[in-house]
Amino acid sequence: MKIIAVGRNYAEHIKELNNEQPDDPVIFTKPETAILRTNEPFYFPDFSTDVHYEVEILVKISRTGKNIDEKFAHKYYDEIGIGIDFTARDLQSKLKAKGLPWDLAKGFNGSAPISPFVPKTEFADLQNLNFRLDINGETRQQGNTSLMLFKFDYLISFVSRYFLLQQGDILFTGTPKGVGPVQVGDRLTAYLEDRNMLEFDVK
Ligand code: MG
Repeated sequence: MKIIAVGRNYAEHIKELNNEQPDDPVIFTKPETAILRTNEPFYFPDFSTDVHYEVEILVKISRTGKNIDEKFAHKYYDEIGIGIDFTARDLQSKLKAKGLPWDLAKGFNGSAPISPFVPKTEFADLQNLNFRLDINGETRQQGNTSLMLFKFDYLISFVSRYFLLQQGDILFTGTPKGVGPVQVGDRLTAYLEDRNMLEFDVK
């Protein structure tokens, strides 16, 4: 499986990082080894002093496809979840300044904690989904999918022009505003609507 992620997909988050609004989705990948499942702890890496949380809705690909038309994209996913796109912001900023790829800052071990997946049919409207991240019981990030610049179906269509999508692939669909650093000892809890989906510690 592979993890495909979208950067700069919420206007307010683009502003907080002083980035430009893109014409096309900004796509990057993480290796499978980035995944943390079943509320395993996240171990703070030794190469960074500024690891940021980015809470994001996940889409799990359910069948193989390429060059998928946007109007058929909904047939390629049955389940959604929530995850954290951990980012070594200090390292990413250095790499960005030099025009170099972000992989080390985004794809390191444990940089992709993910929740279990639930059927998308459990939600009335995927384009109006609330999600949030609490740290130590305090809400730090809150988003709604209606604020996405590029919607799920468009993202799937766009990505499938370049990557063959396969069953089990996971799409991180971008983070809303409010990103910030985590500290050792923090407890992160991510909610899809009011459901506690993911809860783990930073060690
Ligand atoms: Mg992200």
